[in-house]
Parts: sequence; C-alpha cells; structure tokens
Amino acid sequence: MLREVIIIGSGPAGLTAALYAARADLKPLVIEGLESGGQLMTTTDVENFPGFPDGLIGPRLIENMRRQAVKFGAEIMGGNVIKVDCKTPFQVTLEEGEEIQCKAMILSTGASANYLGLESEQKLIGHGVSACATCDAYFFRDQKVVVVGGGDSAIEEAIFLKRFAREVKVVHRRDRLRASKILQSRLFKADGISVVWNHVIEEVLGVEDKKVNGVILKDVTSGDRHEEPCDGFFLAIGHTPNTQLFKGQIDLDANGFVITQKNPHRETETSVAGVFACGNVQDPLYKQAITAAGSGCMAALDAERYIESLNMID
Ligand code: NAP
Repeated sequence: MLREVIIIGSGPAGLTAALYAARADLKPLVIEGLESGGQLMTTTDVENFPGFPDGLIGPRLIENMRRQAVKFGAEIMGGNVIKVDCKTPFQVTLEEGEEIQCKAMILSTGASANYLGLESEQKLIGHGVSACATCDAYFFRDQKVVVVGGGDSAIEEAIFLKRFAREVKVVHRRDRLRASKILQSRLFKADGISVVWNHVIEEVLGVEDKKVNGVILKDVTSGDRHEEPCDGFFLAIGHTPNTQLFKGQIDLDANGFVITQKNPHRETETSVAGVFACGNVQDPLYKQAITAAGSGCMAALDAERYIESLNMID
C-alpha cells in the first residue's frame, strides 16, 4: 500500500504536521522514533507555549498533541526508522524490517542537545540540569547558575539567565570564547556574569537530593579541582541534528541541519521534491516548541500541495 504521507519523528513539529495532514484527509503515518515525543519529554514545566497560561509539563503537552492528531485520523506507530530512500516512491525501513512507501515524506527527527555525558548530569536532567535557558531560566530567579560552553549559545543563554538569576558563571574549557565579538562585549559589560576560564565540569552535585547544588570544576592547566555551589547547571555545548539517515540523499548544511526554503512555493521542502522538513532538524536558530509546531503546520500544508500537484499530473 502506498501511503500519502509518512512523518518521521514525534515531537511538536511531527505531531503538528500529523494534525494538519490528518485534517486534510491524508491519513498520515507518524513513526515515533527512539526519542518519542522529542526534547519536550525531558522538560518539566512549559510556560511559553501559547494557550496554556498556567503552564503544563512537557510530556503532557506532547500527550495533548498526540491525542489531537489521532482524533482526526493520524496513525502513530512506535518503532525506529533505520533506512530512508528519498527516491520516489519514498520508502522507510523500520528496525523490525517492515518497509513502507509514501508519496510525500516529512522529516521531523529533531536535534539532540549535546550533553557532557556525566552520569550525575544525566540523573539530574529536569532537576536543575537543563540544555534550554529559554525554557527553564524562569525557575532560577535569584539563584546562582553555571553555564558550560563558549559559543554564541552559551553567551546568549548566560545573558538571558542573568535576567532571572542572581549570579551566572560561564565555565569554558579554553582561555578564549568562540562566541561573536558583539555577544562577548555584552557579556563582559553585564553585571553578575563572570567567566571561569580553562575549566571543565567533572561532576554535577546533588544526585542524592534530586536537585543540583553544585558542580566540581577541574582546571585543565593545573589539574586542580574545586567545588562551585550553584542551583542550576545549563549546557550550551551545541546541538546535533538527527540527520544521519538522510546524509547523501538530501542537502544538509555544514552542521548537519536539513536545508529548506529553496522553493518559494513550498518553504519547508528539502532539496528533494516531496520531502519536507520541520522543527529542530532544520532549525539551528530558534529551537522552540512553538516554532517547531509552526513549521510542522507549514510542512503538512506543503506536503498537501505537493500531493495535489501529483494528482493533477495523474
Ligand atoms: P558552538 O558554536 O559549536 O559552540 C559550542 C561551545 O561548546 C564551544 O565553545 C565549545 O568549546 C564548547 N564545547 C563543545 N563540547 C564541549 C565539551 N564536551 N565540554 C566543554 N565545552 C564544550 O555551538 P552553539 O553556541 O550552540 O552555536 C551553534 C551555531 O549557532 C553557531 O554557528 C552559532 O554562531 C549559531 N548561533 C548564533 C546565535 C546568534 O547569532 N545570536 C545564537 C546561538 C547560536 P570550544 O570553543 O573549545 O570548541
């Protein structure tokens, strides 16, 4: 059976695409992927998604989106795609060996925030460890936070965090920032933000209390260690788009993000006609649940138009 649309990935972009495609009677199939629900599943309170003035937890927001998409006829399937063929008819292969073909494909596999990989850090995600200052800064009002990283994101996040936090320390592994000069100059002018140079994080403290209460820093030049008390620990060491499956088949930028916006009539289309991308897999800049959802809507509308154009040829 040839499906109309397959959506790969089930974060806010994929589920919004599913909702719109379902309402257009395209009977979309969503393949959830390994990180079902995406980054929102590891977010506690979401207070910046319009329509929810009292906020809600990330997993609840995803559950609501799923229910809404399913209500209109989207089919959501567990499982992981291990192969994608971007030649028409498009084909996805699931881990279990099943192969499914479709007329249009929407890629919403997201991007995963990079973590240091420390066991303590992983245990405290959502309990003071965060990779999204925009999402979580509000919870650190009048507290002290540590940000790790030296790029634009780290500096932007540090400046944003200082709107809420009493004190922000940026920990960077070198003696020079990678961030743009303009952001650096804003950083150095800001009150209450300091940089700890040439240090790495060895451990996040607070696992027993299920709440961050400090970090252990190591000086990379002397090897000395010291404890830095803090209430929050933010990672800003880059994101990795989940695009391994598409490499060599559609155009990716130098950082691996899917390139879209080449077709003025279908802005979410990739370099392959009929393959669309939405959400963080194609967005190195905004990375918000609401922008992901918005681009998911666009991808579904674009896919609908593309399928209509195929039907006119038939
Ligand atoms: P990035 O530029 O790749 O910077 C990542 C930073 O994290 C670097 O300073 C790197 O250190 C550090 N880092 C990486 N792995 C680490 C590890 N394991 N331990 C400690 N530190 C580690 O990433 P980004 O800041 O997310 O920016 C991504 C892209 O988006 C960039 O092109 C950036 O310009 C752009 N961006 C632009 C804006 C803006 O224009 N307003 C805002 C945000 C992002 P080293 O420096 O030593 O490598």
